[in-house]
Amino acid sequence: MKEFKTYSPEETYKLGTALGKILRRGDAVCLTGDLGAGKTAFTKGIAAALDIKGHITSPTFTIVNEYNSEIPLYHFDVYRISDSEEMFGIGFEEYLYGNGIVVIEWANMIEDILPGEYISVDIKKCLEEGGDTRAIKIVFLGNRYKEYEGRLSF
Ligand code: ADP
Ligand code: MG
Repeated sequence: MKEFKTYSPEETYKLGTALGKILRRGDAVCLTGDLGAGKTAFTKGIAAALDIKGHITSPTFTIVNEYNSEIPLYHFDVYRISDSEEMFGIGFEEYLYGNGIVVIEWANMIEDILPGEYISVDIKKCLEEGGDTRAIKIVFLGNRYKEYEGRLSF
């Protein structure tokens, strides 16, 4: 487990880029945190590390946005998912076991169908410290990620 504090959206973006740089095909990043915590800002940073130039927005109505690159990015926002079955309907497993990187905003809403191993990123607003401070906790869950913590540099 690694804990960070960021003091601006740019810094959260940079932490996302630092994580993005160590990701490999088939990895899954599960983001949790309230509305406006910075999940999309962090995802934009991951996308930058994958050399994705397009404009990244939360895929709130479409559930998943795909970005092509050498390693594709599958960006989910599951806030509007009513039950996990819906995820299988849009091919969640194909994405998960495909050759890109899966990033899921609001992953806690589909907790019952998350894979056994994933990278958990939880972002909390530090309200007592004013508007822009965020506490970001990254946990590498499972054998697949056992070397990642040592490789992450920020
Ligand atoms: P989410 O996807 O979690 O709903 P967004 O990334 O879309 O959140 O939005 C985060 C909002 O919080 C943006 O308006 C951003 O400018 C603001 N913000 C302020 N400080 C930070 C910070 N340290 N990290 C990320 N976002 C921040
Ligand atoms: Mg978002």
